[in-house]
Amino acid sequence: MTALSPLLKQATPVVVDHAEGCWIHGTDGRRYLDFTAGIGVTSTGHCHPRVVEAARAQVGTVIHAQYTTVMHKPLLELTDKLGEVLPPGIDSLFYANSGSEAVEAAMRLARMATGRPNIIAFHGGFHGRTVATASMTSSGTKFRSGYAPLMAGVHFAPYPTAYRYGWDVDTAVDFCLRELDFLFQTVSSPQDTAAMIIEPVLGEGGYIPTPPRFLEGLRERADRHEILLIADEIQSGVGRTGKFWGHQHSTVVPDIMTIAKGVASGFPISAIAAPTELMSTAWPGSQGGTYGGNAVAAAAAVATLDVVRDEALVDNARDRGASLHAALRGLASAHPRIGDVRGLGLMQAIEFTAPDGTPDVATGHAVQHAAVDQGLLLLNCGLGNVVRIIPPLVVTDEQIADGAARLSAAIEAVLQGEE
Ligand code: PMP
Repeated sequence: MTALSPLLKQATPVVVDHAEGCWIHGTDGRRYLDFTAGIGVTSTGHCHPRVVEAARAQVGTVIHAQYTTVMHKPLLELTDKLGEVLPPGIDSLFYANSGSEAVEAAMRLARMATGRPNIIAFHGGFHGRTVATASMTSSGTKFRSGYAPLMAGVHFAPYPTAYRYGWDVDTAVDFCLRELDFLFQTVSSPQDTAAMIIEPVLGEGGYIPTPPRFLEGLRERADRHEILLIADEIQSGVGRTGKFWGHQHSTVVPDIMTIAKGVASGFPISAIAAPTELMSTAWPGSQGGTYGGNAVAAAAAVATLDVVRDEALVDNARDRGASLHAALRGLASAHPRIGDVRGLGLMQAIEFTAPDGTPDVATGHAVQHAAVDQGLLLLNCGLGNVVRIIPPLVVTDEQIADGAARLSAAIEAVLQGEE
């Protein structure tokens, strides 16, 4: 008898039978409000009819044409569509399949373009699980421990996690920028540094919006030292935060962006975006792979971007996100264990803190499990003490209220008798 690898250990016992919109229907006959969106992927909801139709039509036309040999129409169309929403100056796109591949491509491009070896990443950042991307990841030791030696040339700088430091945001930003300058003087000189990579909202590391002033400080140093700034928009992009891109909560324009997850509603496709001049420093054929920019995934991405525009999903993320944030604040005022509520748009989280001020990992996990009993699917992040709430961008206010009620019941079930 074969079995699924223990590497596939699941956080919930749910097996999906079918799914639509914000709902997952389990093989157990129950339906679950899906506030995980496949880790921020099913942006237009499960099986949006326009995405399904686009993919179906493409399957009957061309499934695969390898882009270094024969180009296909969906990728040209997707390039036009993404071009409409990319920041000024970022006018070139290159495609892969997964987030990690995009991050790796961005890192390789930065090294090639600058001729410098080092990458600076930030504490708590998550950029993937391949050897190179795990090397830039510091959101948990499990992504690194036992897999050494990882890629050389990555150095970590502190990230302004004001809540953990117990500081106000400005103090945290000032401290982190000073430490970054110190890193340039002591560990990785600007002449050796190709790029800094940052998530506009720290995702797996705990759902912490990067303070705009920090991003602006990075931009200023990047310009001064001719270092490239990579915005990893894999989780924060395509409307998730209530703006099309997470970095647009600041005035900063990055040099390279990574894009994946929500861009194709569940089909595997990713991209890096950068100015043509920068992109043209890498050898054609030196990046990407056999399945990069698959035709069916690209067609689904085109339909996804159309739905995001036609159904005003960026505004919906902003407005439903505000309702969700208010509901979470209400829960926090009733439960002292919720130490912090934070997020942008539909990228929201609550952090559980034990009475002694340490991260309450046990409660984070227990709430996730109790939520399943309430018919609500949630994910943890941070050390497990942070429960993140990421509904599909099509979520309604009614579903937000429903989800908040289920979450409240789950927290009650866990904390009953403890407080
Ligand atoms: N970067 C960020 C910001 C992510 O959130 C993720 C996935 N959680 C990745 C990179 C890696 O993407 P993938 O799992 O598709 O390789």
